[in-house]
Amino acid sequence: MSSPAQDRPPVAFEPTRFEKVLIANRGEIALRILRACREMGIRTVAVHSTADAEAMHVRLADESVCIGPPPARDSYLNKAALLAAATITGADAVHPGYGFLSENADFAEMVQDHHITFIGPPAKLIRSMGDKIAAKQAAVSAGLPVVPGSDGAVGTEEEALDLAAAIGYPVLIKATAGGGGRGMKVATGPDDLIEAWQTARTEALAAFGNGEVYMEKYLAHPRHIEVQVLADMHGTVVHLGERDCSLQRKHQKVLEEAPSPALTDEQRARIGAIACEATRQLGYYNAGTMEFLYENGGFYFIEMNTRLQVEHPVTEMITTLDLVKEQIRVAQGEPLGYAQGDIRVHGHAIECRINAENPVTFTPSPGTLGRYHAPGGMGVRVESGLYTGLRVPPHYDSMIAKLVVHGANRTECLMRLRRALGEYVIEGVETTIPLHQRLVQAPRFVSGDYDIRWLEGFVTEDQ
Ligand code: ADP
Repeated sequence: MSSPAQDRPPVAFEPTRFEKVLIANRGEIALRILRACREMGIRTVAVHSTADAEAMHVRLADESVCIGPPPARDSYLNKAALLAAATITGADAVHPGYGFLSENADFAEMVQDHHITFIGPPAKLIRSMGDKIAAKQAAVSAGLPVVPGSDGAVGTEEEALDLAAAIGYPVLIKATAGGGGRGMKVATGPDDLIEAWQTARTEALAAFGNGEVYMEKYLAHPRHIEVQVLADMHGTVVHLGERDCSLQRKHQKVLEEAPSPALTDEQRARIGAIACEATRQLGYYNAGTMEFLYENGGFYFIEMNTRLQVEHPVTEMITTLDLVKEQIRVAQGEPLGYAQGDIRVHGHAIECRINAENPVTFTPSPGTLGRYHAPGGMGVRVESGLYTGLRVPPHYDSMIAKLVVHGANRTECLMRLRRALGEYVIEGVETTIPLHQRLVQAPRFVSGDYDIRWLEGFVTEDQ
């Protein structure tokens, strides 16, 4: 690995100021970025597919550009159309949000090649962290503990059998290019290993255009704990504590909280310091998240996300920092202006991801919104572009809103969350609000004693 100092771009003595930012995303996150820009006095360009012409982020932006038909590959994933939109509108920078092209190193490079700033880390780090094998190897050299597993890709059946015997069953086969919980298969013994290996390869090829897979020890009952890091281009790195994202269905997060009810202050400080040190060694800047599995007191790195996370608001609520503004400031070349000792954690925050889905079968439920009433009051934050009459299109991810609640402590936060969920009215589409209502009453969730397997069983219990 080359030295971090060499990797850092030359920084102008005077940080540049963006006048116009193109938001290369849709839905709640496009609106979230738009709001941050507006508060910073930066003009915004929204992009949209023909299915999103009436979306809130389009209505509120200073300018908007239609970038293609509804399918994401023709619009929100269409690099040339996005670049043309940025060039034509004279945008100084592109904020990619999460999903879509946010972790596409080629896109980041294309943007930079057009003398437009990509609001994120250097493209070469997006590339190395996007290849999960390379990311694990980089993590090991940066001193992070990782889940035991293969050193690289597992290319043959013999290799798979030998490795699994050495690691010990159960093992997990994962896609090198994986994301969104797809392309993962568990094998409990040699009998189902080859099938798992083959299925994972086929699924990975279909989903990511890359069939390469690797192997990890399958941890039985870990928690998913991730550390938010923030770094400027001048060498300052801080962590903003952790988020507990153990409540998952099909390896996808459903509800997140910060701080984690499972960690002591000492553990928090230890894993935060480890994540900061790794960030420094990688020469990383902007916001990033190091994801770990946590079991029996040990942390095991699984991947680094080189973008803003869906669940970033829980960190914002407990630190009072605006992560999108911080990302923009860092991309402008500004120093963070604070150090680890200045970061304070206040109270507790929980986020519920609200999807347009049947709360029992999880079948997507697109449609036109009828009555809409968002909860409010002290400590309640709704991130959503919903309004009565909006058509929720069937073409994209089904998450339509995030309800984020803050309280002085976890108990107050839970009481407030129950109250806010009870106020939320979304008609015209089915939503997962009833699932969240059930979840926030569940003794196991209330106790804070849950792991990544628990929710899967809970959602299939008798209603
Ligand atoms: P993706 O990038 O697809 O989200 P991750 O590597 O981040 O994949 O893993 C997603 C989830 O899958 C984790 O939060 C955890 O629930 C589960 N998982 C991943 N690796 C392991 C493992 N080695 N053992 C047990 N569960 C795992």
